[in-house]
Amino acid sequence: MKRLACAACGAPMTNDEIAFCLHLHGGAAARFLCVKCMAADFGCPPEHLQKKIGLLRNSGCRYFAETYV
Ligand SMILES: [Zn+2]
Repeated sequence: MKRLACAACGAPMTNDEIAFCLHLHGGAAARFLCVKCMAADFGCPPEHLQKKIGLLRNSGCRYFAETYV
C-alpha cells in the first residue's frame, strides 16, 4: 500500500485518519486530510475528531478493521 499524505499539509496519514476519511466519504475518499487539517476544515477542535475516531473504532466500523499503511 502506497504511503498516503495529507492533501493539505503533506503530513503522513495514520491508519485511523485514513479510515475516518473513508468512513466520512462512504469508502470513496477523493482526498485525505489529517485530523489537524480536517478539524480546521470543519471548524472544530482536533480533540473532537480524535474522540469520534475512538468511538467509531470501538463501534466496529469496518473501515477501521483494515490496514492501510
Ligand atoms: Zn494535514
